[in-house]
Amino acid sequence: MVEDKQKPIEKHDLLILGSGPAGLAAALYAARAGLDPIVLTGMVLHGQASTTSIIENYPGFPDGVDGSELGQLFQTQAERFGAVIEMDQAIAADLRQQPFRIESYGKVYETKSLIIATGATPRKLDVPGEKEFTGRGVSYCGTCDGWFFKDKDIVVVGGGDSALEESLFLTRFASSVTVIHRRDELRAGAILQERAFANPKLGFIWDSVVTEILGEDAVQSVRLKNVKTGEETLHETDGVFIFIGHTPNSEIFTDQLVFQDGGYLKVNMQMETSVPGVYAAGEIADPHYRQVITSAGMGAAAAIQATRYLENLDN
Ligand code: NAP
Repeated sequence: MVEDKQKPIEKHDLLILGSGPAGLAAALYAARAGLDPIVLTGMVLHGQASTTSIIENYPGFPDGVDGSELGQLFQTQAERFGAVIEMDQAIAADLRQQPFRIESYGKVYETKSLIIATGATPRKLDVPGEKEFTGRGVSYCGTCDGWFFKDKDIVVVGGGDSALEESLFLTRFASSVTVIHRRDELRAGAILQERAFANPKLGFIWDSVVTEILGEDAVQSVRLKNVKTGEETLHETDGVFIFIGHTPNSEIFTDQLVFQDGGYLKVNMQMETSVPGVYAAGEIADPHYRQVITSAGMGAAAAIQATRYLENLDN
């Protein structure tokens, strides 16, 4: 890590990277344990969940809660017990010795323990209309948004396990789900493929990519291009669910921590990474569930472990 000598250095017991459900649940638990945690928000304040219009599967909100409102509630609760939230992002890390050193845009932090809750970013198609219609027909989460497409016709982009698992889930709501895949062979595992082919609501468009998402107030159609023939067609749809993989936000820890496949950090049941005193929680360490509730649970566990680690370190 090459540090900017102009940046002020701050010393802390616990630094938390990320302000999604994992980071803020960790902050709440750590603050209540008297650790005075500092949270660096990262680029997306309150994480991916904050981009969801309504969250109806987080317990305690029987009528659902707006994603950004839930994120703010998490923050307010953590701050009430003394957590400090800073709008900043870690850009470099040195975990080779105690204290760990994290450089952000604004400061250099020396910290005795670290919780990494930097999440992951859904991979984007990068086509015209995608950004404009996110939340208005374009979604990256079937569990969160499927209900809004009751009796509607929707498309799913991707051919992996996520695309098929989410497509099958979405058939509970939608009248039809059409999977658009860029090849004529799915990447998903055999069992999911079998279930998908057997589901009468599920159809496939092969060898095709979405080149544009169109609509007025909400999505109305997608422009498709057949990659073999070059033919372009318009396909009418009420929604576009995109599952073409996730990119975990773990780059700054390359060569410093042990990873699992796909760039996710490897943790054990105690949320411990390969470096004692460094924990990971939420989607950065979880390619499987990616839910607000599971991320918050991982964050709480990481904070409890960090508290124990610091007690032992000081004795
Ligand atoms: P993935 O396995 O990487 O699949 C991504 C899919 O999106 C692929 O079919 C890929 O096409 C397609 N794709 C990628 N970029 C694209 C683009 N720009 N335009 C169009 N299509 C694009 O990702 P995933 O499905 O999210 O799964 C991630 C990991 O989690 C995998 O290891 C998976 O096995 C695991 N997972 C497991 C389960 C389960 O076991 N039930 C459920 C979910 C996820 P190509 O096939 O042509 O590359």
